Amino acid sequence: MASDPVRYRIHPKSPEAHRFEVSVTVANPDPAGQRFALPAWIPGSYLIRDFARHVVAIHAASGRRPVQIAKLDKHTWRAAPCSGPLTVTAEVYAWDLSVRGAHLDTTHGFFNGPCVFLRVLGAEARPCEVEILPPRGARYRAWRVATAMPRKRGPRHGFGLYAAANYDELIDHPVEMGVFALGTFVARGVPHEIAITGRQDVDMERLCRDLRRLCAHHIRFWGVQPPMDRYLFLVTAVGDGYGGLEHRASTALLCARDDLPRRGDRGTSERYRTFLGLASHEYFHTWNVKRIKPAAFTPYDLDRENHTALLWAFEGITSYYDDLALVRCGLITERDYLELLGRSATALLRNPGRTRQTVAESSWDAWIKYYRQDENSVNSGVSYYGKGSLIALCLDLLIRDRTRGRKSLDDVMRALWARYGRTGIGVPENGVERVAAEVPGLRLRGFFDRALRSTADLPLAQLLKTVGLALTLRPAESSSDRGGRAVSTPAPDLARQPTIGARVKQEGAELEIVQVFDGGAAQRAGLAARDVIVALDGLRATPKGWATLLARYRPGDAVDVVAFRGDELMKFAVTLDARARDTCVIAPEAAAPASASRRRRAWLAQGPRRA
Ligand SMILES: [Zn+2]
Repeated sequence: MASDPVRYRIHPKSPEAHRFEVSVTVANPDPAGQRFALPAWIPGSYLIRDFARHVVAIHAASGRRPVQIAKLDKHTWRAAPCSGPLTVTAEVYAWDLSVRGAHLDTTHGFFNGPCVFLRVLGAEARPCEVEILPPRGARYRAWRVATAMPRKRGPRHGFGLYAAANYDELIDHPVEMGVFALGTFVARGVPHEIAITGRQDVDMERLCRDLRRLCAHHIRFWGVQPPMDRYLFLVTAVGDGYGGLEHRASTALLCARDDLPRRGDRGTSERYRTFLGLASHEYFHTWNVKRIKPAAFTPYDLDRENHTALLWAFEGITSYYDDLALVRCGLITERDYLELLGRSATALLRNPGRTRQTVAESSWDAWIKYYRQDENSVNSGVSYYGKGSLIALCLDLLIRDRTRGRKSLDDVMRALWARYGRTGIGVPENGVERVAAEVPGLRLRGFFDRALRSTADLPLAQLLKTVGLALTLRPAESSSDRGGRAVSTPAPDLARQPTIGARVKQEGAELEIVQVFDGGAAQRAGLAARDVIVALDGLRATPKGWATLLARYRPGDAVDVVAFRGDELMKFAVTLDARARDTCVIAPEAAAPASASRRRRAWLAQGPRRA
């Protein structure tokens, strides 16, 4: 029958060898020889990853009869024609503890569908069932399952039978198995769960309380019935890590365990703020990119790159609302929020590549550039996340200013939801710009040409002024100064400090150049990324002493830098630069008119307008 479900089975067969055994059974295989394929990438992470490279072995059978299976290209197989049910079984290596991969060891398992589930070509629309089995052995008796995939049979959080409407849904529900801490809460009628894997001592009660507030805010923001009937935060806590990937009813997050609140913690630390920002970002994606999605992703072509110039809207606008939601629902203060904005503006200003690549180009080339960064990326590219979020800020403030506060980007997002999210129609390449102009009834072509298709700087200072905020610039105080905060050293004193025009890092006991900025002192002198600096004017250079050593000089001074390139010792004559005024601080303007301050309060405190 054409409606027979495609039946999958996944078994963590060899946790100690990090191998899942995954099978798929098709009741009525293609009489010409059924083809199967693994995705080349995972939606949400725009890089060709070729998951088929982790297939260790594969074989096919019809009942007990072996069926030949041959490879057609890097990730497609074809089984010989057969009449009965056809089962293909693959062994998949899983040792990638990232939000995009699959991981299995004796402590837990985690997988994303694209890494393990073969797509049955021609049967993508059929319902899928997947039997999730536990590993064999007494030591795994306490293992449970966490996934947003609907359960068909078996106890809650148990191993057993799960189901998905089609292949697209099947691979959009990552699965965690193991012993995890579980918290639950209800936000606006939607049951939510948070499952945390890894050693941690989290204050689960507080975490659930804060996430509940955040999720309720986002649901209220969109102003309509939430599109998911349950939601799951899958969190892996490690010593040091950061990452998130959005799904239709869940998200996989990787964080440092110290980013999570511990019992007895008060206030919102900078680290917890980072975690909340990440959770907020992925949750907002439930609407923006999982449902309002580019036409280029409707449907996803899992065999190759899917190019779109719209990632500034899907990642940038999401990055704008992630932190904005935190201040709007009271999880962080206005001061905290302005610090985060100041840091975003600083990051963009310190990125010489913003003058070489537009945000539309950055989006289009995400596959070969943003996701494949190297030492030159800072000089050649711009982030559609960072610049995209500042474009969203400018757009929001521009609409608020020109409509005297009657409309905002919030209204644009809700209109995008009504037109594209609710209907499932893909957003055409000009769709966001069109809706953004239509909703407030403004001509925005000039703004978008400048913001998206040119490398001219954004009118940030001018627009912040409309909400009573002043953007000031100063040189960095130290290499750890990310901006956003006032510092005690007066700006003229900072301007007398020199810079070598490169970013350095400690590599073991050595001082290594990571990036050389375009046009800067290091580049003019011929220094390069990966050079190891050993001396400055005859004095030994160490990671710890580098800042002090440099502080002995003034901009314009000539110094000798001795460095290793590979194993060859080289000498460079460097003329030091002055530190650029590339560090932004955004703060309320004392002399701002009352109307501007009023508008700022409306922007930062605003819930959605009632229809
Ligand atoms: Zn994102």
